[in-house]
Amino acid sequence: MHKNFKGIEKTVFGRGSFSQLGEIIAPHRSENNGYMVFIVDNYFKGKELESRLPVQPEDTVYFIDVDPHEPTTEQIDTLRDEILANKGLPSGIIGIGGGAIMDIAKCVSLMVTNEGSSTLYQGLNLIKKPGIYHVGVPTISGTGAEVSMTAVLTGPEKKLGLKCEWTVFNQVVLDPELIATVPRDWWFYVGMDTYIHCIESENGQFNNAYSHAYAEQSMKLCRDIYLGETAGQTSENDDKLMVASLMGGLSLTYSEVGICHAISYGLSKILGMRHCYSNCIAFNHLGDYYPEGVAEFKQMVAQHNITLPQGLSKDWTDEQITAMAHVSYKLDHMWNHAVGYDWQEKVTIADIEAIFRRL
Ligand code: NAD
Ligand code: ZN
Repeated sequence: MHKNFKGIEKTVFGRGSFSQLGEIIAPHRSENNGYMVFIVDNYFKGKELESRLPVQPEDTVYFIDVDPHEPTTEQIDTLRDEILANKGLPSGIIGIGGGAIMDIAKCVSLMVTNEGSSTLYQGLNLIKKPGIYHVGVPTISGTGAEVSMTAVLTGPEKKLGLKCEWTVFNQVVLDPELIATVPRDWWFYVGMDTYIHCIESENGQFNNAYSHAYAEQSMKLCRDIYLGETAGQTSENDDKLMVASLMGGLSLTYSEVGICHAISYGLSKILGMRHCYSNCIAFNHLGDYYPEGVAEFKQMVAQHNITLPQGLSKDWTDEQITAMAHVSYKLDHMWNHAVGYDWQEKVTIADIEAIFRRL
């Protein structure tokens, strides 16, 4: 079976395009109970962007601090209950922030129409009813969350996305001016998430001409941004990074991620390590699986004087390493792609534990 995916319905791209948000959402204001919910990264509280939010008196604005932890099922359930209890079903949800905020916006848009806890819907096509209109405005680029059909949540049992057609944003606003303030280390880790998406998408059995075309272009942009003379956090490169993130996300949607993401999910689930950072920690040691990609990644690390800690595993218990290996092992689709349908004959829990011990 070939994948048959829904894409973002509308995309606006360009410097200053955030100013069009009010006009863009206006036609949807009459839907449901006639008010919009803005979910905004707490970083923007008190910043200029707050005064530019196209908020009407009836709307609700939540500023959310994403730093304590990645989005959780409990957090989504509480937010959904609060929104519905206050003013009933909103006309739409607008998420303004990085991958975490965009995932929160996607999940809330689904959970306001689907009963029970979000833990019931972690997986593929488990959501029963369409969600409501939702808009994504990335303020960090790299994860591809703006384009993906998944919204990743950490629950009591698993870290897994709510993945279905209705997860995909109805609208995204790509304004590269919004990513100018991203701290340099995050700019690096998040951009590397894009780069790793492409390397993994390309190196596996599900790669095809369609996913390859997006990966090739996205990697070219990553090289402009992170390697050579044009590298650096410039406005021209911010334009490129927004597009690279989108294309990297599209590439893996039509192909798959691989071993680095399988390892990274183990680090995030068991140690609470952030997605893009844990990808960098893992990818640094995966030269035997992705020789060219890891060699180029190391050049980028060196060019930007990024320090990736080594020898982390000496502080982990055997139980933690085994638990992380089990999280990775369950990501069947990633191993399938990277190693082949017979991956379970080639990769054991002990092999995966050995990868964690390298870190
Ligand atoms: P993030 O949303 O976790 O934010 C990282 C930090 O950057 C935060 O401190 C935030 O406050 C700050 N920040 C955001 N915008 C800023 C700006 N313009 N200037 C200064 N600081 C800013 O970052 P992320 O790496 O984009 O997202 C990671 C999350 O995305 C994880 O929760 C991960 O699970 C999820 N994810 C989702 C997908 C998907 O397809 N849905 C894919 C990959 C990762
Ligand atoms: Zn990723």
